[in-house]
Amino acid sequence: MKDVAEIIAEKIATVRLQEPLSRHTSFKIGGPADLYLEAENVEQLVFALSCLRKHKIPYYVLGSGTNILVHDDGYRGAVIRLAGQFREFNFQQRLVTAGAAVPLAVLAQRAQELGLRGLEFAAGIPGSVGGALVMNAGAHGHALGELVLEAQILDAALTLHTYQPQDLGLSYRKSNIGPPQVVCAVKLQLAAGDRDELKRQSRDALTFRRNRQPRQPNAGSIFKNPPHDAAGRLIEAAGLKGQRVGGAAISDVHANFIVNEQNATAQDVMTLITKIQQEVWCQFGIELELEIRLLGY
Ligand SMILES: Cc1cc2nc3c(=O)[nH]c(=O)nc-3n(C[C@H](O)[C@H](O)[C@H](O)COP(=O)(O)OP(=O)(O)OC[C@H]3O[C@@H](n4cnc5c(N)ncnc54)[C@H](O)[C@@H]3O)c2cc1C
Repeated sequence: MKDVAEIIAEKIATVRLQEPLSRHTSFKIGGPADLYLEAENVEQLVFALSCLRKHKIPYYVLGSGTNILVHDDGYRGAVIRLAGQFREFNFQQRLVTAGAAVPLAVLAQRAQELGLRGLEFAAGIPGSVGGALVMNAGAHGHALGELVLEAQILDAALTLHTYQPQDLGLSYRKSNIGPPQVVCAVKLQLAAGDRDELKRQSRDALTFRRNRQPRQPNAGSIFKNPPHDAAGRLIEAAGLKGQRVGGAAISDVHANFIVNEQNATAQDVMTLITKIQQEVWCQFGIELELEIRLLGY
């Protein structure tokens, strides 16, 4: 691995061995990745991926790490994050093209300042644009997919392709984008809006989050809402709110959040996940599907 790291480091500034992934996840949980690197543009990304493939090293693209649980043993392969040019965005009239590493909330804030409507739901969602497309992130009845005009995605052959929204399989917290594809940029269609009204809406959305979501490290909603119900309501009704395993707890603010109270391990979180799934199944006959992604499992 050291040899491959040295080759990659010839063209890429940030390359590290045994990088703790707890530093890169909102849960603050996760063992080390054998190799960690940050690609600053498409050329560097293609170079790194070619190198990893040549040496048969598996890789995983991480966004802002806000919807993921990484195993305590980490990941035997390379974790790639996008940086540099992938953090740039450009508004042209009512269109915005954003690199995959742009924080979604930053884009939403800028759109609001420009009086552009569409991204109000995203105020306070902590992920990146790339992660938000893969997860079709959303809130308050809206999701990113509604705004997508096209996406630039590096495909299996390491060529950049433009995808139309109908090709992305976007539905509730879901897309058909997956390894080895890498989202590089997304173009969104916004609409004209009233700046003061947009400001009020995003302030309300942030206040709602502050009151309804826990402050301790977490990964957002653990489970998807089943049809016509809410995972949080079911977990609470099953009597599980506030339950603890090791350093992890089912939040007593919102039962669909598991929080890292004190040096929780991924195993603590997984034990709670299994317990929730079993109890909700036994009591209500409903199978809760994970919303968070797992890495290293
Ligand atoms: C406090 C809190 C509140 C949240 N609230 C919401 C909410 O209201 N609504 C909501 O939908 N989500 C919410 N989330 C979850 C999360 O923020 C979103 O799902 C977000 O879109 C994930 O983006 P990310 O960059 O963190 O992705 P990551 O967690 O890093 O990755 C998620 C998946 O996307 C893949 N991925 C990421 N970037 C790329 C890329 N460039 N190319 C290919 N694959 C990629 C990863 O491989 C992984 O499979 C919340 C999370 C937290 C911690």
